[in-house]
Amino acid sequence: MTGDTPRPAPPLRGDPPLRGDTPLRGDPPLRGDTPLRGDTPLRGDTPPDTPLRPDTPLRPDTPLRPDTPLRGASEPLAALYDVALLDLDGVVYLGGSPIPGAADALAKAAASGMRLAFVTNNASRTPSAIAAQLTGLGVPAHAGEVITSAQAAARLAAEHLPAGAPVLVVGGMGLRIAVRERGFRPVTTAADHPAAVIQGYAPDLSYSLLAEGGLAVAAGALFIASNADSTLPTPRGRQPGNGSLIQVIATATGRAPLIAGKPEPPLHAEAVARSGARHPLVVGDRLDTDIESAVRSGADSLLVLTGVTRPLDAVLAPAGCRPTYLAEGLAGLLGPHPGVTGTGGTFSCGGWQATVDGRGQVAVTGSGAAMDGLRALCAAAWSAGGVTERAATAALAGLGLPSPLG
Ligand SMILES: [Mg+2]
Repeated sequence: MTGDTPRPAPPLRGDPPLRGDTPLRGDPPLRGDTPLRGDTPLRGDTPPDTPLRPDTPLRPDTPLRPDTPLRGASEPLAALYDVALLDLDGVVYLGGSPIPGAADALAKAAASGMRLAFVTNNASRTPSAIAAQLTGLGVPAHAGEVITSAQAAARLAAEHLPAGAPVLVVGGMGLRIAVRERGFRPVTTAADHPAAVIQGYAPDLSYSLLAEGGLAVAAGALFIASNADSTLPTPRGRQPGNGSLIQVIATATGRAPLIAGKPEPPLHAEAVARSGARHPLVVGDRLDTDIESAVRSGADSLLVLTGVTRPLDAVLAPAGCRPTYLAEGLAGLLGPHPGVTGTGGTFSCGGWQATVDGRGQVAVTGSGAAMDGLRALCAAAWSAGGVTERAATAALAGLGLPSPLG
């Protein structure tokens, strides 16, 4: 973006000043024990107000260090956490095709009492449409189990606007329905004096609608974006995502939007509120959305390697984007996770030992399950404040990770 740096939005009718470039970290969290009225309860045999079993340890192991959050778990994760907040693409399906083993693992996790919620930055489709897709892929789901960034954006608007306020939706059906469900009055032009403009990706987004949004924001409307993903993975490659599209209005008006989707906290808060989760486990395939969202929200997380994150990316993960647990896929919900122990510069997991020298070099020796070697390697790299890509690549080659993980 060239030209003026986006300026914060002006205050609306006596509200405290909003800063579009400031994540909503300081906002009070939504009450996790208050599912929204009228929502369909999540699947599972544990209602939200049922306390966890007295024998369920909430913190199975102490993390090695604050910047090395990797932990072990002596029980299956499905028994330790009440709700899995699952990302979709790269976790349940990949480009519309089911990820092998995902449906079976989720069925087993649900059968053991873990409730499932599907949390997506996709704002263009409705929860019903997404639930139908999941069901068609062998993961039975209903709309109440799907939480979208459109719903989080509407919730964000409700924190700043009165019920019934006119809102201009620059986006698709999923966003329009979420805005209507939240009690706002959808309008289509700046001439209707919308109190807010909410923008989300839609494949048929038109210039005329962007122009109306730009006029409304320039006139003082609150500017909210469902998410800021700069690209959208497709079979044809990376297409411009909502994070690119919001730059149209941001550039034209000099105003940056508030962001609802991952890694910003509002979507996680919406998922916790709708699911009634008390001790959720965030499950995702991206470090800079799913895992960062969990870290910023204070939730534990499971990184699966069925999507965009390669083992090398995990080893090189920056602080703030490091998961609590690592697994090849969703079967990682069903078993215990071996812990990593560290003394000096040597970290052990299973039959593997990773040694780091503090100058960016790391090496791994041993044998056994390749994921245990990856866990040891991550703990070593993270504890040392990072390692070089060359050293990490060489160490990974010694683990014998199965293709395509290696
Ligand atoms: Mg994903």
